[in-house]
Amino acid sequence: MSDLWDDAETRFIQPYQANKTYLCPGCNRDIPPGLGHMVAIPYGAADLRRHWHRACWTERGRRRPMSS
Ligand SMILES: [Zn+2]
Repeated sequence: MSDLWDDAETRFIQPYQANKTYLCPGCNRDIPPGLGHMVAIPYGAADLRRHWHRACWTERGRRRPMSS
């Protein structure tokens, strides 16, 4: 399942656009209304888009192996 998210389009949701609570898949915590965050949309699977805390999305990228 890793990696849907390696090939996803991201957009930043401005605080004023965040009018619902979302569950961040990075930390399994809520993203409250009014908090700017990211939405990630896997290519070819727009139904699977998820909202992430900006920090969680960034951290997720960092966890990738630097080399292998
Ligand atoms: Zn999070």
